[in-house]
Amino acid sequence: MSGDFSPDQKRYLEGFVSGVQAVRGSRGAPGFGGSAPFGGAAPAAEAEPTGPDAIHLKAMAAQEKAGKKLVPQEKAKREEHPFDAYARFKDMAEKGQFAKQLDDFRIRFHGLFYVGPTQDAYMCRLRIHNGVLKAWQFRAVADLSEQYAGGFTHVTTRANLQAREISAANGIPFIEGLVDAGLTAKGSGADNIRNVTGTPTAGVDPQELLDTRPYAKEWHHHILNDRSLYGLPRKFNVAFDGAGRIAALEDTNDIGFQAVEVKDGFGVAPGVCWRLALGGITGHKDFARDTGVIVPLDKAIKVADAIVRVFIASGDRSDRNKARLKYVLDAWGFDKFLAEVEKTLGWTLTRVPPDAVAPRPESDRLAHIGVHPQKQPGLNWVGVVLPLGKLTCGQMRSLADLSERYGDGDVRLTVWQNLLISGVKDADVAAFEQTVADIGLATSASNVRAGLVACTGNRGCKFAASDTKGFADLIANHVDGIGLAVDTPVNIHVTGCHNSCAQHYIGDIGLIGAKVPINDEDTVEGFHLHVGGGFGSDATIGRELLRDVKGEDCPAVVEKMLRGYLAKRDGAETFA
Ligand code: SF4
Repeated sequence: MSGDFSPDQKRYLEGFVSGVQAVRGSRGAPGFGGSAPFGGAAPAAEAEPTGPDAIHLKAMAAQEKAGKKLVPQEKAKREEHPFDAYARFKDMAEKGQFAKQLDDFRIRFHGLFYVGPTQDAYMCRLRIHNGVLKAWQFRAVADLSEQYAGGFTHVTTRANLQAREISAANGIPFIEGLVDAGLTAKGSGADNIRNVTGTPTAGVDPQELLDTRPYAKEWHHHILNDRSLYGLPRKFNVAFDGAGRIAALEDTNDIGFQAVEVKDGFGVAPGVCWRLALGGITGHKDFARDTGVIVPLDKAIKVADAIVRVFIASGDRSDRNKARLKYVLDAWGFDKFLAEVEKTLGWTLTRVPPDAVAPRPESDRLAHIGVHPQKQPGLNWVGVVLPLGKLTCGQMRSLADLSERYGDGDVRLTVWQNLLISGVKDADVAAFEQTVADIGLATSASNVRAGLVACTGNRGCKFAASDTKGFADLIANHVDGIGLAVDTPVNIHVTGCHNSCAQHYIGDIGLIGAKVPINDEDTVEGFHLHVGGGFGSDATIGRELLRDVKGEDCPAVVEKMLRGYLAKRDGAETFA
């Protein structure tokens, strides 16, 4: 056995050859235990790991050799690759057993999340590249959610769908049903590359520089079909922004590809290409930063692949709080990191000064709601407001019907927890909007409601300190109910814990859940309030303004903040 392996790993590899995992090897599935032993080509004790899992095994071994103690999730991946546990999960489903503890971690590789103790149920998160799916797929998700889940879905802040209230027996049928519908949940949780986001108006947006859909799709399939790209040190987000009217929030991703136009006269071919931004993780108060690198359009997938491989080899596997790409970049700096990426690629990245890139068109913070003309004359996209991202299965079927009857057959989800139907003819807009109203939804909203984002909260997430969706709803109902006319876009982001799925640091007003003490012993649900966050050209991390505000007091506090802004703003000054 190589000297690169720790005593633990040696013991594991030896046990693996003689035991259970050798059986797995006979099924031809290379495991995290080392794929050379699975192949049986060499005695395990002598084998260097090879195959798709080797890059991970070597990284784990190197960190152990350096004296680091791997976190339990790393050991779980090494002991049994989550993809090799599928048959076991099927057996558990047949017995009505949930996958819990480290098996909960493993089953997240398949897109199922056990959400106990909040609920004795699974949640399933899909993958929908660029957030675009066909109407018939949307209908299929509705059918599956009705048959196997709680009869509703949520649109997430990664332009994705989640279904909840899935029983132990129904988890596997749900994810297998997704595959039947041409969808998947694979790799949507745990230490994997998450749903690939892109500009939601791709291909129909009059101001876009680039249609992001082919790139999001190619990266999606690239991930899905390469086992070595699963089981990273931590989760990993990639977004493609085509400079359309609706922000894709690419600067909040580990890799943000931004379509830009390179000017003539800078020693590189002028035209549209990708600018590479790295290290976004707003829950840790960092946006993806411009690397100065531009990437030819057809090289984006290769560059993303190389970045992920460098991260796999270098990311910290001993501290979950420091395991994201940002921390490698903080420790190494861009120069060293990009040099490693170039080594992996085998070619040199192109760098340009900031003034080589033309200013990008600005996004419109309200373009995800209502009727907007497409670049195709006579056609429109219509943004439908969803109450904090929630859709009943009946509404999903009706929207699928609407897309096929009046639109182009696509349903486009956005990171703003709503959806668009594209390709609606001018003459059909009124009938479309009436039908949306008939199913209890809307195509217009107040500026406060339009910019309201909330994570799952304690109705379905064990990490939440508060009922995010409930209090977000109270805030919007209160502000709208008193008729406070907020005439500029205002984003209110309500998140339940430091994981910041609703990205409270980028909201004009950001709330993060807190248990608020009311006496020496008791607490009630509440929030700490932040102000002044932004994204895109206004990218700013919000600063904390108030701590320990009881949830029931938040509507009045937000009202005061908005009234203060309206009274004291200077002309067209924004809230931020
Ligand atoms: Fe759960 Fe926290 Fe994410 Fe909200 S931010 S969904 S509470 S993990």
